[in-house]
Amino acid sequence: MSEEVKYTPMMMHYLEEKKKYQDCIVFYRLGDFYEMFFDDAKTASRELDLVLTGRNAGAEERVPMCGIPYHAANGYILRLTQKGYKVAVVEQLEDPATAKGIVQRGCIRIITPGTVMDENGNEKESVYLASLIDYQYGIAAVYCEMTTGDMHAQLFDRNAAGIQKICLSCNVREVILPNNFDKKYIKLIEDFETVTISMFNDIQLKDEYRSLMEAIDNPHVQHAVGLLTNYLDETQKQKMEHLTPVVLLDEEDSLQMDFSTRQNLELTQTLRTSSKSETLWSFMDHCQTAMGSRMLRRWIEYPLVDQAKIEQREDAIDYLNSNFILKDELREELSNVYDLERLCARIAYGSANPKDCVRLFDSLTAIPAVLRSFADCAPYSYLQNLDPCTELKTMLDGAFVENPPISIKDGNIFVEGYNAELDELKRISKSGQDWILELEAKERERTQIKNLKIGYNRVFGYYIEVSKGNVPLVKDEYGYIRKQTLTNAERYVTSELKEKEDAILHAQEKSIRMEIELFNQLISQIKTYLPKLHELASAVAMIDALYSLAIVSNENGYVRPVFHKTHEIDLVDARHPILEKVLKNNRYIANDLKMSETNDIVLITGPNMGGKSTYMRQLACIVIMAQVGCFVPAKKAHLPIFDKIFTRIGASDDIMSGQSTFMVEMTEANNALKYATKDSLILFDEIGRGTSTYDGMSLAHAILEYIDQKIGAKTLFSTHYHELTALEEKYPSIRNLHVEVHEENDHVTFLYKVNEGRADKSYGINVARLAKLPESVLERAKQILAGLESQQSLDLEAASEFQFPKEEYIIERDVCDQLAAVDLDAMSARDALAYLYEIKAKL
Ligand code: ADP
Repeated sequence: MSEEVKYTPMMMHYLEEKKKYQDCIVFYRLGDFYEMFFDDAKTASRELDLVLTGRNAGAEERVPMCGIPYHAANGYILRLTQKGYKVAVVEQLEDPATAKGIVQRGCIRIITPGTVMDENGNEKESVYLASLIDYQYGIAAVYCEMTTGDMHAQLFDRNAAGIQKICLSCNVREVILPNNFDKKYIKLIEDFETVTISMFNDIQLKDEYRSLMEAIDNPHVQHAVGLLTNYLDETQKQKMEHLTPVVLLDEEDSLQMDFSTRQNLELTQTLRTSSKSETLWSFMDHCQTAMGSRMLRRWIEYPLVDQAKIEQREDAIDYLNSNFILKDELREELSNVYDLERLCARIAYGSANPKDCVRLFDSLTAIPAVLRSFADCAPYSYLQNLDPCTELKTMLDGAFVENPPISIKDGNIFVEGYNAELDELKRISKSGQDWILELEAKERERTQIKNLKIGYNRVFGYYIEVSKGNVPLVKDEYGYIRKQTLTNAERYVTSELKEKEDAILHAQEKSIRMEIELFNQLISQIKTYLPKLHELASAVAMIDALYSLAIVSNENGYVRPVFHKTHEIDLVDARHPILEKVLKNNRYIANDLKMSETNDIVLITGPNMGGKSTYMRQLACIVIMAQVGCFVPAKKAHLPIFDKIFTRIGASDDIMSGQSTFMVEMTEANNALKYATKDSLILFDEIGRGTSTYDGMSLAHAILEYIDQKIGAKTLFSTHYHELTALEEKYPSIRNLHVEVHEENDHVTFLYKVNEGRADKSYGINVARLAKLPESVLERAKQILAGLESQQSLDLEAASEFQFPKEEYIIERDVCDQLAAVDLDAMSARDALAYLYEIKAKL
């Protein structure tokens, strides 16, 4: 817009505000509406299906505008933030009725994708905001969930895989980065459509947030917490009192899963956002409370590696499933507990309303029984020592009116008897209202106007309203003074009414003010219980999640897995938990898997569509469920505890844009080879198929040898390079399995049974027939295949002699990669030394 454009004072003020919040859609309050102007209006009308209008704002051209009623704002804001927008709410800061000149307005809050507090969102979903600090030899990330105040931190590798992990952890919607963050990594984050990037620069932790760092002594995490809290101060415009102290997570305390494992196994998110298919989380979720569901989600994202902890959860499942009455009662009691985590956050944040307090009371009433249900479950006996906050419950008991309002601004919160002074004020205000009613009756009598009524509005106060037809009946002697003329009625006041009005309004106002004050006092008292309430909330969430595990385990006939220190796997009649339910009438074929201590690698051959990937996914699901502490879909399950899972399964090709299938495949394979240990599980589905046959086969071959010689991880490897099955003869750790098919006259039927030994041939052409390719094409393919098969064979002698060099080239390369990327000038002496120590620890 050109300099000369002259706008109205209001529009000038709008533009001033807009300048401050360039990256936001500004909601500008005008009366009962929030209005958006210029490009904001165009964006909002497009995204929210609003009518785009225009406003005369002084300039020649009308300014594009659209608006929404103020009371519906939350829903619209939520929709915008879900699409990755930020919304700055510019509010009227004074009452327009009393304001002189243009109403003062200012921004009261910026709502961003990571800072939504609104309840209308999915309550089971935890949306996280993260802040990142690049300290040259690693990245510190702090995660914060606004609705509960949960804070945790983690250190990640400073590379692409690290960035991917950061963006995939716990449903991050927004990432705050300091301006000097490496452009290369910013680009990587931009690839995640669900993540919004916010640049912000202030990393110094303020004193008032120092208590969040209680348990952590790490300068990088401290800076990340500083960045996060300063950003929150800036956007929320109030102190964040509801944040809980940061917990520093160590990757090694849980089963580590790479990017594609989380994605491909659809643990907590479906592969395609549009897809309705179930995730392992939604499948396992029978929780009665939203906080239970969220806890279960965390359990699935971070399965355990500590046998004692896993067995503790299994014990709880056995305990609940051996006592059905107790389990039923527990469900009942759990369903009476509200989302205590979010209630606590709202109390601390200052947005709790009277309804929340009643919910708190109901929850506190139900909680003792919930805790008691675990009284006889030995590993959880500590729950009996939790303080159930009885005094708080007594304090809330009977304090509120039935069905109290969501807003405190109109009073009507507390019951009679809660506070004597308040009762007195209410009595006075009530008697005033009675007086009005009496006056109304008296005036009707005197004037003989039946529909005469006394009303009230904020501008004129109390008035007597007489409909147009009855106006002639109003006589001078009544002393009515005309105040306002409407289309159908006249409004009057009398001196008597005006006199009383002051007293009535005064009492009413005082009683409302007093109720608000009492409510705020009560909230401050509740605040002193917050640490205990947090403990209760996480105890209930845990019990609820355990209840849910008990239900899935029992309803589906699962078996309790047994863990041992060796590397054996023994699964009998194992199933895929979700597919088993999808395929009705027991059509799912159960399969065994036995791998001895020395048998590390299983090669699976068989036709496409024969059930190979399903067999692998099934193992991954079982391992994850087992380490979550749940029972598993099998008749018998003996398992080691895995430290990491790596998968390359199925079509995840389109997830990371811009990379070819083959590149994705090799990156994932590389990840596994680099980080897997002998305690890991590797699942490779048709590695190498993304390139030409010889390339692919050679790579697959070399990867298998590498796993065999250098890693020793338990590995399932499916392949259509049928030639690879010969490796079994040379490598004691490699064994062949195949998926069974029935073949008759070139027609195959899939049996989905996994058996010992190799498939006798590839069945690509048979499967192509199933897909109804023209018969002539199939015939020609068969001829070509016959020719190729006669030329190809694997040089097994050469294969068995090859040895990978002794030195750990991977660590060297790792260190070299890191060194090359480090900007020494950007590091403090302390960091450089810490880095040296870290490298040394790796060697
Ligand atoms: P592959 O990896 O060998 O190409 P998949 O594992 O993708 O084959 O399986 C193809 C389809 O076969 C699956 O979508 C599923 O419907 C069916 N299937 C696989 N395993 C089983 C099983 N054990 N029981 C019943 N149906 C199965």
